[in-house]
Amino acid sequence: MVKGIAASRGIGIGSICVIAEHELTFEKKKIEDTEAEKKRFNDAIEAFKEETTKQADDIRKRIGPKEAEILEGHLVMISDPTMAGEMTKMIEAGQCAEAAVEAVCDMFIGMFSKMDDEMMRQRASDISDVKVSMLKLLLGIKDVEISKVAKGTILVAKDLTPSMTSQIDKDNVVGIITEIGGKTSHSAILARALEIPAVLSVPDVTTLVKDKDTAIVDGTEGIVYLNPEGDVLSQYIIKREDFIRKQSELKGFLGKETVTSDGAKVELFCNIGTPKDAKKAVECDGEGIGLFRSEFLFMDNNHLPSEEEQFAAYKEAAVTMGGKPVIIRTLDIGGDKDIPYLNMKKEDNPFLGYRAVRYCLGNKDAYMIQLRAMVRASAFGKIKIMVPLVTCVDELREVKKMVAEIKKDFDANNIDYDKDIEVGCMMETPAASLIADILAKEADFFSIGTNDLTQYTMSVDRGNADVAYLYSTFQPSVLRSIKHIIECGIKAGIPVGMCGEAAADPLMIPLLISFGLTEYSVNPVLVLTARCIISKWSKEEADALAQIVMSLDTESEIVAALKAASKE
Ligand code: PEP
Ligand code: MG
Repeated sequence: MVKGIAASRGIGIGSICVIAEHELTFEKKKIEDTEAEKKRFNDAIEAFKEETTKQADDIRKRIGPKEAEILEGHLVMISDPTMAGEMTKMIEAGQCAEAAVEAVCDMFIGMFSKMDDEMMRQRASDISDVKVSMLKLLLGIKDVEISKVAKGTILVAKDLTPSMTSQIDKDNVVGIITEIGGKTSHSAILARALEIPAVLSVPDVTTLVKDKDTAIVDGTEGIVYLNPEGDVLSQYIIKREDFIRKQSELKGFLGKETVTSDGAKVELFCNIGTPKDAKKAVECDGEGIGLFRSEFLFMDNNHLPSEEEQFAAYKEAAVTMGGKPVIIRTLDIGGDKDIPYLNMKKEDNPFLGYRAVRYCLGNKDAYMIQLRAMVRASAFGKIKIMVPLVTCVDELREVKKMVAEIKKDFDANNIDYDKDIEVGCMMETPAASLIADILAKEADFFSIGTNDLTQYTMSVDRGNADVAYLYSTFQPSVLRSIKHIIECGIKAGIPVGMCGEAAADPLMIPLLISFGLTEYSVNPVLVLTARCIISKWSKEEADALAQIVMSLDTESEIVAALKAASKE
């Protein structure tokens, strides 16, 4: 049995498929038979074209024509006579095909990445993809096709990138195990959205297992069994049935209000990444959107989305939610979220660097486009603007000033928008928490981002397995911070929500009821679980538990007390 981080609930039992990472190293040998080497090179080009055409067709069908365009661009590049011509010349001069591909691609990458034009810079990363694919073909390295794995597969990888996760067919993949990533890494969030049990940060797992090994992934407890004994297997088959049965019992909460056992109503919203996810929120009975992570719109693109493109996406979410609140967070990049075409500088401390609202206020032209799109879309539903990573009131004031300018412009040009559009503050830094009273005077609402609040309060990188033992929202420091933020919001008369993953944690919910949280924003698949847990607690019971818990000194004592009182 090996332990990792419980990242997506449920139990998966199946057969392992390892997604290996390959080193693209080769020996730069002098070639004697240049004709044979040219043939090897041309064969690789043909295979590249065939493979890429197939992949583009597949993506066009499964995802859409825009996504397929990137691969079609790769086909154009490899067919470019200058590029292939330069490579051929190098082979004729005695270089091996791998060296020719690497040198010519690197030359073009260097050239394009220095250009001012953003589209040109994007070509550098496309050429880099072409280089990797060509080298894999020449070196005979085959990648696993994630979209085609057999039924009952458990994927094992060092890390699962969002693009790998997007290829997963949830009918076939029953579990995910990775070596890195934490509870709030984006691979974890996607695994939960797909409802696939996942255990992350299992040390050296890619070397511990081989293809076709049997494994049990217990994504609720964060445990993995490799080639389990018969009795463990039969216990887990029962546990899996039990989990599935409980999930189906939750269906009884569909269409119900979210109320505590003593009748206090709270709002239960959803976290989404794309406007299409809003449909999922409606299907799962979410009462609004508490966090639309707008950066996915930017990450799934090869260019900065225009005002029209963004407006269409925000409007789609607003219309899908039919007048229910849709809180859209402005671009939150940096940290673990990179957008290649923005060519952001590499930083020594990206989580403490030029990210989120800091980047946006430093790139006001692009930020203005996003804010305009949001304000325009507010004419079609109840959109609210949320600012991430606020650390001082000046940032919030600056964003509000930009929104006021937009409103003035729209008034002058008769463009429709919601005159009462709210601008709220994401509370995810210790600085914001410490000045929550000041921010509450300027913000229309608060939403607590516990994923980052925990990271910054505890000074632990949220994706680093070595310090994961400290990354807990149940640390007394984090709980005090949460309580303080809610109290400041209540005192100032503004609503306080929570959109971090803790909002759906069954152990956390009674504390949040006691502190007075009125809006919970969770992954759509957890709406019914959260509604069920909230329905089991009264304010009086929650207060009694919170009083004990808040007097405890350590995280382990707190978790033990909450587990002992759990009503799950
Ligand atoms: C958070 O930090 O709690 C949050 C909800 O945002 P993200 O996970 O996208 O950083
Ligand atoms: Mg955050």
